[in-house]
Amino acid sequence: MENTRCFANRFSDYKGALIPGQGAENIVVATIDKILKNVPIDVRDCDGGLYDGPAGVAYMLYHVSECPLFSEHRDVYLKTAKQVIDVSVRYVDAEPDKNMRAAFLLGGAGVYAVAALIYKALGLADFVKPLSKFRNLWDVCAPINFLECGSDELFVGRAGYLCAALVLKQKLGFEILSRDQIKSICQAIIDSGKQYAKRKRKPFPLMYSYYGTEYLGAAHGLSSVLQMLLSYQDVLSEAEKDLVWQSVDFLMNQEQNCNWPPELGAIIERENELVHWCHGAPGVAYLFAKAYLIKKKPQYLDTCIRSGELVWQKGLLKKGPGICHGVAGSAYVFLLLYRLTGNSKYIYRAQRFAEFLFTEEFKAGSHSVSSIYSLFEGLSGTVCFLVDLSQPDKSEFPLFSVFV
Ligand SMILES: [Zn+2]
Repeated sequence: MENTRCFANRFSDYKGALIPGQGAENIVVATIDKILKNVPIDVRDCDGGLYDGPAGVAYMLYHVSECPLFSEHRDVYLKTAKQVIDVSVRYVDAEPDKNMRAAFLLGGAGVYAVAALIYKALGLADFVKPLSKFRNLWDVCAPINFLECGSDELFVGRAGYLCAALVLKQKLGFEILSRDQIKSICQAIIDSGKQYAKRKRKPFPLMYSYYGTEYLGAAHGLSSVLQMLLSYQDVLSEAEKDLVWQSVDFLMNQEQNCNWPPELGAIIERENELVHWCHGAPGVAYLFAKAYLIKKKPQYLDTCIRSGELVWQKGLLKKGPGICHGVAGSAYVFLLLYRLTGNSKYIYRAQRFAEFLFTEEFKAGSHSVSSIYSLFEGLSGTVCFLVDLSQPDKSEFPLFSVFV
């Protein structure tokens, strides 16, 4: 029976040698031209933040401009990035809901963070302005229940705010928040998870929900919350670290044949399973990568490797070219595994997925995407992936660093 979620992978697997390709430069430049023809630059069209708003395009342009292969385009891309992000900054400055201003992937925190990166890359002393706006959002997300829908996940919650701070630290080279600020955000996440687990009588230490659902995956779930706590584990007490590691192992035990259900306790149906960055192994893998990098426990690496095997089987997704639930998001798992293991097999696999993005089969068989220019669902994510494939030693899923 035909799988409705993914194309059959008909590529033969790695046999010990990479296939020489023709660099991706021309495709990247042409795809960026296409994106720029589609991206709106009106302040009324800035909804969606980094996830599917114009701000994500600005991040993509910044990312490409940092790659030496595109040095001749650097100035134009950065100037365009500034034009695009400036409009988004005006939009989030005027956002009346302060909680939305504190959101990472869907709101202001992410926009301010990317604005700071772009200004800094352009050599503008002004980069401190968006940085201080970012820093001021700390007050908003510190209270334990600052959002009614769930205060801890990645898109709008505290894990997102920490994730943005991590990206800034990695790319600017200094810590944006004070140790006390980071510590209090981490403690709010831990207290909130403890309270929820206790109230709902969960048999494990930390759990969260978002709009009433106990998600496990990277998008709104436990895995990215734990990933951020591991990323800042040096501010945690020994007792807090114990709770986090217990939760990591708890989540590892929720695996069902190389995958995780979208929500706690759900049973995966093989024919219909979600193999997405947002829900499933391709996003959960980053938590176990982080856990492996810290503890070097082979079990964590094995978990990542099993995720990669599932992605090779079921990762040619029909939901477009993006990184959230599309082919580029799947292929990023191979780049992650390459960085963890150094095994060229994963470069080979990422190259085949890149190749598939330009086939007639993909064009004819995938669903249309509402904002084709966007970073998470559209072509900006694809561009980031193609650029990273050309420099796999530096590759990282956009805005989701584990090698910090
Ligand atoms: Zn998704």
